[in-house]
Amino acid sequence: MRSKIFGLLIVIMFILQACAPQKSETTFNATNGVMNLAEWNSDTEVISLSGQWEMYWEQLIEPEDFTLHVDRPASGTFTFPGFWDNYDFNGTSLPKKGYATFRLHISSVPLSDSVLGLNIPHIDSSYKLWIDNQLITTVGKVGTNAKTSAAKRYPRVVFFTPKHESFTITLQISNHEHLRGGMWKPIEIGTAESIHKQYIHQIILQSLLLGILILAGIYHIGLGVFRKSEASLLYFGVFCLVAAFRNLMVGDIFFTKFFPDVSWEFEKKLNYISLYLHVPLLAMVLYRLYSNDFPKWFIKLSIIVPISFSVITIFTKAITYTAYLKYFQVFIIFCSIFALYGILKSLKRRLVETKFLIVGIVSLLMTVIVDVFNYIIRLLNTNLYLIGLTVFIICFSFLLSRKLSSSLELSEALANDLVKLNNDLELKVEQRTEQYQLANEKLEQLNKQLEQMALLDGLTNIPNRRSFENYYEQAYNECLTHQKPITVLLCDIDFFKNYNDRYGHQEGDTCLKRVAEALRSMEVGFVARYGGEEFVSVLTNINQQSAEDTAHEMNVLIEQMHIPHEKSSTSEYVTISIGVATVIPTENTDRNELLKQADEALYKAKRLGKNRYSL
Ligand code: GH3
Ligand code: MG
Ligand code: MG
Repeated sequence: MRSKIFGLLIVIMFILQACAPQKSETTFNATNGVMNLAEWNSDTEVISLSGQWEMYWEQLIEPEDFTLHVDRPASGTFTFPGFWDNYDFNGTSLPKKGYATFRLHISSVPLSDSVLGLNIPHIDSSYKLWIDNQLITTVGKVGTNAKTSAAKRYPRVVFFTPKHESFTITLQISNHEHLRGGMWKPIEIGTAESIHKQYIHQIILQSLLLGILILAGIYHIGLGVFRKSEASLLYFGVFCLVAAFRNLMVGDIFFTKFFPDVSWEFEKKLNYISLYLHVPLLAMVLYRLYSNDFPKWFIKLSIIVPISFSVITIFTKAITYTAYLKYFQVFIIFCSIFALYGILKSLKRRLVETKFLIVGIVSLLMTVIVDVFNYIIRLLNTNLYLIGLTVFIICFSFLLSRKLSSSLELSEALANDLVKLNNDLELKVEQRTEQYQLANEKLEQLNKQLEQMALLDGLTNIPNRRSFENYYEQAYNECLTHQKPITVLLCDIDFFKNYNDRYGHQEGDTCLKRVAEALRSMEVGFVARYGGEEFVSVLTNINQQSAEDTAHEMNVLIEQMHIPHEKSSTSEYVTISIGVATVIPTENTDRNELLKQADEALYKAKRLGKNRYSL
C-alpha cells in the first residue's frame, strides 16, 4: 500500500515537472547596468535579467531624457529581483515607499531583427517599461505620490523586435501602497516562441491545479450535503473551493485578468482573507476526522487567529496588514506541525487511511515551509504550496474514497446478511406454520374422538344414556312439529343376575356386548345402552303395528343368537323382555311420560313371563 502511494506521488511529480518550463543553464548576471548576451543560446534558453541595474532614486526619467542628457549620472545600482525597502544604498537604507527609474543595457544579442519576448512578473505596485525609446507596457499608474499613482497586479508577456544587437530597457517603478517596492521575480527574456511556450506551460499547470481544486470542491461539497453524518466532506469541499479561489490570485493572477477593473486594494484583501481561511477549514476537516487526537483549544485557536487576521485585513490598508503576513505564516507552520503530530498520534490506532493523510500533510507542510522560508528569509514570493496542496487533495480524496467504500462494503454485507436472515426466517415461519397445522389437525381429531367417546358407551361401543337423552329430545320435538308417531322400546335381559352368577361377570360383559351389537345391527332406529343390562331404542315415523313387529323381531333375533343360559326359566338361551310405548306428540303429551309408559310395559312383559314384548 505504501509503495503504491509513493509510486503515485512520483507520477504526480513527473507530470508537474513536465509542465515546468526550461530555465537557463548558463547564468547571466548584469553588472553596473550592463548585461552581455554574447553566449546566450537564444534558441532554447529563457534567461533572467537579474543583477545590477542602474538606479535613479526618486526620479521618473523617460528614455528621451537620457538621449537629451547623455551624461546623466545614476544614483547607484540596484540588484534585481529585490525590494528597495531597507536596501543598502550608498550607505543609507531606502524607505518602503518611493519611486525610481532603472536601466539595463543589453549588448551582443545574437539575433537582431527577430521577435523577442519579455515575461514580466506582477509587482505589487505600478511600472512602465521601454525598450530603447519605445514604450512597451504600462501596468497601473506610475507617480511620485499616492494620489498620482495606482497599483495593479498584472503579470504580462510582451514582444518586441530590437533594431540593433544592443538595446536598453528603461523601467519606472513607483510604490505608495505596498509594504515593499521592487520586484519579487526577475524579468525574463527569450525568443518570442520560447517565452510564449513558457507562458503556456505556466497557464496549463495553473489551470490544471484550478480544475482539480474546483472539481474536488464541488464533488466533496456534494458528498457532504447528501451525507450529513460526515461533516468532514463538506469542510473539505469548501476548503478546496477556497484554495481554488486563491489560485486565481497567484501565478498569472487570473482574477485581475477576468476582472481588470477591480481595485488593487480589494483584490489584495480577497487574496489575504482567502489565504487565512485555509487554516480553520482544514482544522475542521481534521477535527471531524480525528476528533480524539486534536484538542479543542487547537481548533479554537485555528479559527480565532485567522478570523482576527481577516478582521485586521478588512479594516486596515495593505501597507499595514501585509506587514503581518509573516506572523501568520509562522502560525501556519505551527498549525501544520501540530496537525502532523495529531495525525501521527492517530497512526497508533492503526487507521489504514491515515497513511494517505500523512503523505498529503507532509507534502503540504514541506511546500508551505519552503514558501514561508522564501518569503521571510529570501524575500521571494513563491507559491509551491499549491503543488503541495494538490498532492494533499489527491491523498485526501483517496482517504475519503477509502472510507466511503469501506462503509459501502459494510452496508452491502449487512444488507446481504439481512436478506439471508429474512429468507431463513421465512423458511422457519413456514416450517412452524406447517407444524402448527399438523398439531391443530391432530387436536381436532382428538377432540372429535373425545366427543364421540363422551357419547358412546365404554363397554358395548353403542351410544350411551347421555347420547340417548340428546337424541330422544330432538326426535321427540321433531315428531311434535310434524305430528308423526314416536315409539320407545325399553329392552331388559332376562335373568341376567343369574347369568352373571352362573357364567361370571366377564362372560356377562361379553353377553352384553353381543346383545348390544345385535340390536344395533337391526338398523331399525336409534339404539343406546340405557344402563346395566337395559337397552333403549327410539323409532320415529312408524305406526304402532310396525313398532310391535320390530319388538317381536328383536325378541326372536336375541333368542336365535343361541347364547346359552342354563339359569333362565323361560328359555335355554339368553332372551330379552321389551316394553313398547307409542304416541303422536301433542301439546299435552310429555316425553318423560312416554318413557315411563315404556318402563311400565316392560314390567308387564316381565310379569307375563319374560321373553316377549308388551304394550
Ligand atoms: P329379571 O329377569 O327380572 O330382569 O332379573 P334380573 O336378574 O335380570 O334383574 P336384576 O335387575 O335383578 O339384575 C340385573 C343384574 O345385571 C344385576 C347386575 O349384576 C347385572 N349387571 C348390571 N350391569 C352389568 C354389567 O355391566 N356387566 C355384568 N356382567 N353384569 C351387569
Ligand atoms: Mg334390569
Ligand atoms: Mg334383567
